[in-house]
Amino acid sequence: MSLTPEFLAESKKNLLKDKEHFEKELQRLTKPTLDNAYATTYTEIGSGEDENASEIEEYTDNLAVEQNLEKQLKETLEALERIEQGTYGKCQQCGDEISLERLAAYPAAKNCVNC
Ligand SMILES: [Zn+2]
Repeated sequence: MSLTPEFLAESKKNLLKDKEHFEKELQRLTKPTLDNAYATTYTEIGSGEDENASEIEEYTDNLAVEQNLEKQLKETLEALERIEQGTYGKCQQCGDEISLERLAAYPAAKNCVNC
């Protein structure tokens, strides 16, 4: 079964919603730097030894969440680009069509179930 224009439109809508969500989360978590990359906010709690430890812990947590969000945002943007280029729904590894169930569950999917 191949992609219908309706399915593509629905996927695009979901991807744009995801994109907005990821961008908002990143903004909440980070401060944009000059080169437009995201830098994780380093919360200044205090300078005591215990306080420094929890600062670092929070920083590390934020960094992991931020990297995950950036990865998801990147995949979402790439999927939107594939919609524009007409290659959406094709496995990036083997070129097979990705099942509609998989795309419905995860619109940014770039590989088929086998890859
Ligand atoms: Zn594949």
